[in-house]
Amino acid sequence: MRENFGTAGFCGIVELGKEHMRFNFQVQSVLHLLYPKRCPLCDRVVYTPFWSREYPICQACREQVEYVREPVCKICGKPLTDERGELCQDCARHPHAFLQGKALWVYRGLARESVYRLKYGNRREYGLAYAQELVRRYGDWIRRSRIEAVVPIPLHRKRRRQRGYNQAEIIAGEIGRLTGLPVYRQLLVRCIPTRPQKELNDRERKNNLKKAFKVAGNKVQLDHILLVDDIYTTGSTMDGAAEALRKAGVSHIYALSVTIGRGY
Ligand SMILES: [Zn+2]
Ligand SMILES: [Zn+2]
Repeated sequence: MRENFGTAGFCGIVELGKEHMRFNFQVQSVLHLLYPKRCPLCDRVVYTPFWSREYPICQACREQVEYVREPVCKICGKPLTDERGELCQDCARHPHAFLQGKALWVYRGLARESVYRLKYGNRREYGLAYAQELVRRYGDWIRRSRIEAVVPIPLHRKRRRQRGYNQAEIIAGEIGRLTGLPVYRQLLVRCIPTRPQKELNDRERKNNLKKAFKVAGNKVQLDHILLVDDIYTTGSTMDGAAEALRKAGVSHIYALSVTIGRGY
């Protein structure tokens, strides 16, 4: 009899445990269905516990995507093919309006498709994944550069209205949250609707962006600003924005982007 009791009690605990696990599993599944997290690189749903603050990226994607690695251009941060090179050809020839730039991935393959989906596929949640990777990699650099505020590259209001959001603002917002730095979303204004960059040659592109930005107000009371964008190609967008900030009295401007082209 006693033995039976014992068994019954033990089974009860096991049953209760199972029920509890089943309930927990169900809650997690529902949350997962409501808010599935997708790997920013392949867009497949990745299962994570709902309490995890970490945004998941598949291991296979991490291995496949091309991270920016040394040697890189000391100014713009583009990866270089020549180990002995200090600067890319572009930075050797033309000065930039910002002091130094850093980027996470080379703008090709999975990374290129990923920023495309953030922009045109409403995958705003990727912003957190990018920010997490950027801060993990460049958090020290941000601290060493004594950054006081994060500023996203703005979209022209017409473009913003069409898209419904500014992808750079989403990334900058998450960087601000992770680093504790303030994010100034309205400091820079894009006053001229720039023509699609693809249609322009290098010189037109630079001129196109030279007067495209202005600072809201006259004087900025900050001296170390981090500009944030999703893509860095020729640097003319960053230069246009940095130039406007310099005119308003900011002397230390740094650039951070999710993807970047290769340097030569
Ligand atoms: Zn993936
Ligand atoms: Zn460079």
